Amino acid sequence: MGKLGGFLEIPREEAQKRPVDERIKDYKELYKPFTDEYLIQQASRCMDCGIPFCHFSCPVGNVCPEWNDFAHKAKWEEALEVLHSTNNFPEFTGRVCPAPCEGGCVLGINQEPITIKNIELNIVEKGWEKGWIKPILPKNRTNKKVAVIGSGPAGLAAAQQLNRAGHSVTVYERDSKAGGIMTYGIPDYKIEKWTVDRRIKQLEQEEIKFVYNTNVGVDLSIDDLEKQYDAVVLAGGSKLARDLPVYGRELKGIHYAMDYLVQQNKKLEGTEIPADELINADGKSVVVIGGGDTGADCIGTALRQGAKEIYQIELLEKPPLDRPQSNPWPNFPQVLKVNTAHEEAELCLGGVCNTDIRQWNILTKEFTGDEKGNVTTFHAVRVEWKDGENGRKYMEEVPGTEFTLDADLVLLAIGFVHPEHEGLISNLGVELDGRGNVKTDENYMTSKSGIFAAGDMRRGQSLIVWAINEGRKAAEVVDEFLKSN
Ligand SMILES: Cc1cc2nc3c(=O)[nH]c(=O)nc-3n(C[C@H](O)[C@H](O)[C@H](O)COP(=O)(O)OP(=O)(O)OC[C@H]3O[C@@H](n4cnc5c(N)ncnc54)[C@H](O)[C@@H]3O)c2cc1C
Ligand code: SF4
Repeated sequence: MGKLGGFLEIPREEAQKRPVDERIKDYKELYKPFTDEYLIQQASRCMDCGIPFCHFSCPVGNVCPEWNDFAHKAKWEEALEVLHSTNNFPEFTGRVCPAPCEGGCVLGINQEPITIKNIELNIVEKGWEKGWIKPILPKNRTNKKVAVIGSGPAGLAAAQQLNRAGHSVTVYERDSKAGGIMTYGIPDYKIEKWTVDRRIKQLEQEEIKFVYNTNVGVDLSIDDLEKQYDAVVLAGGSKLARDLPVYGRELKGIHYAMDYLVQQNKKLEGTEIPADELINADGKSVVVIGGGDTGADCIGTALRQGAKEIYQIELLEKPPLDRPQSNPWPNFPQVLKVNTAHEEAELCLGGVCNTDIRQWNILTKEFTGDEKGNVTTFHAVRVEWKDGENGRKYMEEVPGTEFTLDADLVLLAIGFVHPEHEGLISNLGVELDGRGNVKTDENYMTSKSGIFAAGDMRRGQSLIVWAINEGRKAAEVVDEFLKSN
C-alpha cells in the first residue's frame, strides 16, 4: 500500500494547469508536467482498501491500488505493467476520463479521493519517455483474419488485443487519420494529436494494417468484407447529432457542435478550409446549446478563436454542488462540474462562472436573423421542472420570462441519437436495439454470425474508457469464436 496513514497527513492536490491567459492563446495541453515528488506524495494517500471500490468503479477495472503502491515507491516500470494489464491506452483516459474511479474511491466518503487519473497519466507518460512502451508481437500467428471497422478507442483496443492473440487484423477507417473522436472531435488542448499518432505507430509496428479513406459498406462492399475476413468487429461510433427543429433553425451560422469541433482539429493539422465552409467564433456572440461536455469543448474552442461573448444554455436544472442523498458514494457524483473551459470563460470574458456564462432551465423557442439569412438572435423562455406522476419530472414554461440573446454563431451540442444507419449498418442488415444502436447478444455478437460490435456503435455515445472496455471484451469473444470456427 501507499504510506501507512498517508491520507491523514497529505491533502489531495490537483494537477497544476497553465495560467488561463497563456493557455487560451494556443491549443496545447492544459496541464503542466507533474513532478515525481507530487505523484509519489499523492499516490501515498492510497489506503489499499480490502475492497477497492475504485477498481470496480473503473469501466476497464483498472487495479488502482496496485499501481498507486508502485508509484509511491517510484517503481514506475512495474506500475506501467499493471496499468497496461487492464487498459491499452492510459494516455487517453489519463487525460480526459471523467474518472468514475475517483467517484468510487473509499477515501471519498469523508475526504477528497486519490488523484487516480493524474497518477495514471504520469505512469504511462514515463513509460513513453523511457522507451518502455514497445510493440508486442504475438509469438505465433493463427491463419485467421479479422476486420475492425472504425479506429476510435473501441476499434483500436479490439485490434490490439486480437493482434496480440495472433490473428491478422486490418482496421478500416473512413477518415484520413486514425483515432475516431479522439482525433476528430475532442479539442487538441484536451488530447494533443501526436499522442494518438504515437500509439498508432505502436499498433502499426505490431503489424496491424490500417486502411484509410474507406467507408466500409460503401467503398468496400459487404460481400467483399464477408469473403475476406473470418470475423468483423463494428466499431464505427455513434455520431448522428440530435437536432433542434425550431423556427429559424435553417439560418446561416447555426451548426452542429461536431462540425465546428472537427473543423478546428482539421485546421490545426494543416487542412485548408474553404472560406464558405469556415465556422469561426472570432469577434462573435456565441450561444452554445447543451450544458454537457461537448458544449464545454465548444466554449474552450470559441474562446481560443476570440469570441466576443459566450453563453451555454441548458434545458435541465442546475446540478447540486454536493452529492444529494439519492446519489450516495460509491456512485459517480452527479454534481455541478466546472470544466476547464468554464474557468477560462470566467476569466477571459469577465463573466461570473456558473451564473452568467452557464444558464440552466432554458427552453429554446426560435432563432431570428437578418435579411441575408444570417442568425442574429436567440429566443428562449425559462422553465421550471416539477415532480409528476411515477416520479417523472416534467417542465413548465414560466410566463413572462421570455428573453433574447445576441447570437452570430449558434452551436448545437444536445447529444447524439445513434450511429448512422445508411451505408454500413443498413447494407449489413444487422438488427438494431430500441435506441437505434447495433444490437448484440451478451457476447457482443450482432444478429449476424461472425459480426461483432463494440463501443459507441453498440452502447450509444459514451466515454473513451467504456470504448476501450468494449473493444477488449469484444476481442476476447471474437478470439473464442475464431478458435471454435
Ligand atoms: C466532442 C466530444 C468530446 C468528448 N470528450 C470526451 C472526453 O473528454 N472524455 C471521454 O471519455 N469521452 C469523451 N467523448 C466520448 C468519446 O470520444 C467516445 O465515447 C469514444 O470516442 C467512442 O469510441 P468508439 O471507438 O466507439 O467510436 P469513435 O471514437 O466515434 O470512432 C469511430 C470511428 O469509426 C469510423 N467509421 C464509422 N463508420 C465507418 C465505416 N463505415 N467505415 C470506416 N470507418 C467508419 C469513424 O470515422 C470513426 O473514426 C467525447 C465525445 C465528443 C463527441
Ligand atoms: S480509466 Fe478512468 S475510471 Fe479507470 S482508473 Fe483511469 S481515470 Fe479512473
